[in-house]
Amino acid sequence: MRHRVLTDRIIIVGAGLGALYAALCLAPRPVVLLTPEPLGFGASSAWAQGGVAAAMAVADSPTLHADDTIRAGAGTVDPAIAALVTEAARAHIHALTDLGTPFDRDRQGGYVLSREAAHSLARVVRVQGDQAGKAIMEALIARVRATPSIQVLTGVLATGLVTEGSRVSGVEVMQVSPSRCMPVALEGPAVLLAGGGSGGLYARTTNPAPIRGQVMGLAARAGARMADMEFVQFHPTAIDSGEDPVPLATEALRGEGAVLVNRHGARFMIDAHPEAELAPRDVVARAVFAEVQAGNRPALDTRDAIGAALPERFPAVAAACARAGIDPLTQPIPVTPAAHYHMGGVATDAHGRASLDGLWVCGEAAATGLHGANRLASNGLLEALVFAATIAGDLGTELTPVSHAAEVALPETGPAPAPDPQAITDLRETMSRHVGVLRTGGGLQQALTRIAELEAAQAEVPDVVNMTATASLIAAAALLRTETRGSHARTDFPEADPALAQRSFLTLNDARALTRALAKDTA
Ligand SMILES: Cc1cc2nc3c(=O)[nH]c(=O)nc-3n(C[C@H](O)[C@H](O)[C@H](O)COP(=O)(O)OP(=O)(O)OC[C@H]3O[C@@H](n4cnc5c(N)ncnc54)[C@H](O)[C@@H]3O)c2cc1C
Repeated sequence: MRHRVLTDRIIIVGAGLGALYAALCLAPRPVVLLTPEPLGFGASSAWAQGGVAAAMAVADSPTLHADDTIRAGAGTVDPAIAALVTEAARAHIHALTDLGTPFDRDRQGGYVLSREAAHSLARVVRVQGDQAGKAIMEALIARVRATPSIQVLTGVLATGLVTEGSRVSGVEVMQVSPSRCMPVALEGPAVLLAGGGSGGLYARTTNPAPIRGQVMGLAARAGARMADMEFVQFHPTAIDSGEDPVPLATEALRGEGAVLVNRHGARFMIDAHPEAELAPRDVVARAVFAEVQAGNRPALDTRDAIGAALPERFPAVAAACARAGIDPLTQPIPVTPAAHYHMGGVATDAHGRASLDGLWVCGEAAATGLHGANRLASNGLLEALVFAATIAGDLGTELTPVSHAAEVALPETGPAPAPDPQAITDLRETMSRHVGVLRTGGGLQQALTRIAELEAAQAEVPDVVNMTATASLIAAAALLRTETRGSHARTDFPEADPALAQRSFLTLNDARALTRALAKDTA
């Protein structure tokens, strides 16, 4: 029988920006954070290079920021959410500064702003060029460690939700380090999922290894309504170094004038879009993908625009190049598109509430309606901040105040079945091959069939079925959207269909019904 552990602490799944900021906003209310890795590891937040988008310049405004967000989202952004998030941005930059984030400042004390693709002006607040995520996380981790109301449980994976009827009463958790143990039910007053995106479901991704759609999948398995699942953003300039995950060459490099060239030295973006290298990400990703497929070895040339200043101004990029034996001062950096950001996720409302009572979701795991079919660069961290704080406020009004709670201790349990590494490799290859930058109906059907086979073979391994649940939802939503819009490109439906300019919603049952119908048709 499954062990039950009861707590008065709010249960927060994850330890990225969304989770840490929510925990700090909730303090002194007791919370417990669950994370498979030590603080600072295994979270996309710590790897963010560009920074946080916010209308900080005199010439800028939340309205202009919202307009750019809506334009990038290709007809499926919720304008009310775009207004809410962009309006709140400035206050959160000040809050992060107060928490100790050393944002780059000019001599007058103003924030130094980077220009990124599809922003109408420089708007991204940054730290030492490409160190924003690391610096923000270091500041928050220091504050979390100094906050007695926050308990951090490391080596722990959330594998499911505990429900009573349609209400979420807790999280099924599994100790994965130092050894892998059978799940226990951890029950508390509310659950906040902040477990990040799904990039690691793809063979080529910029996301850290734990980010494989597990948290979206566990919510979907409990019946949560999911939104915009087909919209996965592929970053056009991951460094093609053979590493897994693939290191990123931040878009800020292109903002500074770096250009994309192919092996013939031609700047292929000039013909592809009027804004050339600063075209929306999906356009650049498809152009880079076309060059990869044509064997033209696309590369990012930083030599004229940044030159010898690269190691000092973009240390993460310089370090990744050094690991791969690439010298960006003498040669262009080879690049490839890689799964980077999931616009879709658990559908949430303006308070961060999911469709299941007792469940809140923030950060990349949530689909708030901000990003539509294509996230505007550097709106990801911003969305995590705004909704983490909103949810903290909502939980404060929803729950009876509690000033003290005992620390959670998980009991010893027996050994749990482990994932088959080959099945995960297979899943990731299937996603990259059939559910990637370019999609077709036939390929998506093959993907759904293969995902179902892999799931059936690993049905007893909860972390794997959470991954396959999210993978099925992405492939099913992509099959159902018979058009090309934003990041979702169907070569069999190459145009946008104005009748489909709306968000998509589906449940795991819908995705499974589609897979079953395909199997029946094939039989
Ligand atoms: C290389 C890179 C660069 C980026 N650059 C930028 C940028 O410049 N600006 C921007 O706005 N966005 C950027 N993004 C996107 C942005 O970093 C993420 O969208 C954002 O950090 C997500 O925050 P989060 O808190 O939702 O998730 P994360 O920071 O990914 O944290 C998720 C947490 O959940 C944990 N977790 C996962 N599964 C489980 C589970 N089953 N149980 C328990 N815990 C679990 C993880 O270990 C992690 O601690 C970038 C992303 C990457 C990968």
